Amino acid sequence: MLKILQQFNKYNLPTINELLVIFFVFALGFLILRPSYQFDHRHITKQINHANHTKAFHIQATRSTVSSPSKSIEKDNSIPPIIDGLAPVISTIPTSEHVVFLGIDDGAIKQQSDLSMMQQNNIKASLFLANIFIKDNPQFFTQFQAEGSVIEDHTVNHPIPFNQLSYSQQVSEICGQADLEQQEFGKRPTLFRPPGGAYNIDTQRAAATCGMKAVVLWIAKANGGSMQYQVGNSLHPGDIVLMHFRPEFQADMQAFIDAQNAAGLHTELLENWVQ
Ligand SMILES: [Zn+2]
Repeated sequence: MLKILQQFNKYNLPTINELLVIFFVFALGFLILRPSYQFDHRHITKQINHANHTKAFHIQATRSTVSSPSKSIEKDNSIPPIIDGLAPVISTIPTSEHVVFLGIDDGAIKQQSDLSMMQQNNIKASLFLANIFIKDNPQFFTQFQAEGSVIEDHTVNHPIPFNQLSYSQQVSEICGQADLEQQEFGKRPTLFRPPGGAYNIDTQRAAATCGMKAVVLWIAKANGGSMQYQVGNSLHPGDIVLMHFRPEFQADMQAFIDAQNAAGLHTELLENWVQ
């Protein structure tokens, strides 16, 4: 071993002692630098936490568990508040109550039988109406309003994709429809659903500017006579469901009613959960 090391020395390689000194210098250097590494780590963790906190405003796919002792059976998780001028984006309400929420969009197809079906099944919904679809007969929807459903905001012209609009265009679409609905139905809407569901931070700001409490998306939809789920294959407490005023309204509504019954849920108005 010694011979080998002596041979290596011919090539001016470091001796064992020199290697030990180098090792200790590196070890000392690591110990000195270590606190600053830890600080950086904490700093990064804090940034991540901040990002998560910001993200928490969009509570899509958040599930609550019935077994959680901190959850009461009261309306424990209402729609989050407006923070920094941004309306929250919601597609479900985390709750242990056996409730589900229904939003019916557009308003293009107006069938009297749709109202009867909702009456018979005691379903009240948020109706996200766009002026372009309802202007031929807005009075049709006052019947739904009289039965307890609530008229909400879905823009004047239903532009898609909505998040491609400038901030001022978004304000014009949202505030414009709110003004029209206030005039037509005697009540200003408080919830906004972007056409097609595409939104950005301008949408959240524009919605809040126009007096909306939330940007409402969905986690499941009744479409073509059956249910389509973004998560799992059944409804859960607090889910927001989307459907449309379409020719197949009755089949969609039946699919929704069957799904709510199978999950042991009942339909409530989302508006009752606004803080
Ligand atoms: Zn729509």
